[in-house]
Amino acid sequence: MTEPKNSIICPVCGKTAKRLPIHVNPLYRCDECGFLSSDENVVDISYKDHVSAPLSNLYPHKFVLYGFYPTSNISEEQITIPSMESFLQGLKIKDATLQNIFMTRYSAMDACKMSATLNDWKETQTLWFNGEPYNRYSDEYTDLITKAYDALFETNVIFREIVLPKFKGKILIHTIGKDSESDTVLTEAEFRHQLNRLMKRL
Ligand SMILES: [Zn+2]
Repeated sequence: MTEPKNSIICPVCGKTAKRLPIHVNPLYRCDECGFLSSDENVVDISYKDHVSAPLSNLYPHKFVLYGFYPTSNISEEQITIPSMESFLQGLKIKDATLQNIFMTRYSAMDACKMSATLNDWKETQTLWFNGEPYNRYSDEYTDLITKAYDALFETNVIFREIVLPKFKGKILIHTIGKDSESDTVLTEAEFRHQLNRLMKRL
């Protein structure tokens, strides 16, 4: 799909881990701390990979959001969302009713394929939830994402009891993820942070 990046943020020290050019499969090394992405303790999350796919936002782990809507535009006390991707892509839809339909009925793959169609948010760097605006760089936005991942953890027993424990203690990376907040609703570092946070809750 896209060319491998020339560098990733080192998941150990936060400096830059550069891509080693000689390898066909992208391989990254951090000169600062010695991190190497081919280490057996490192998991590069990809939906195409049979080992790490269940950690991907594209995996159809259904979860339930209980009434933390900031306003009462949507009267339902809880909504069931088919995947994290459905939630994340849905944040780009301003109209609360259309967003609700999208978030509850569109699968991860369908939501993902809508990504380019839902690019308007980049102009204003504003996302939406239940009709409320969220600046991409605000703490409120980060809190909203955190609540969604907490809901996934708390309401999907397979994700919590089978998937996460399998990867506990591993260093997670997501080399196909984007690094710039202005270009994605969830950066590689934000994704890693959420999963590492949930691992600690086990
Ligand atoms: Zn490092």
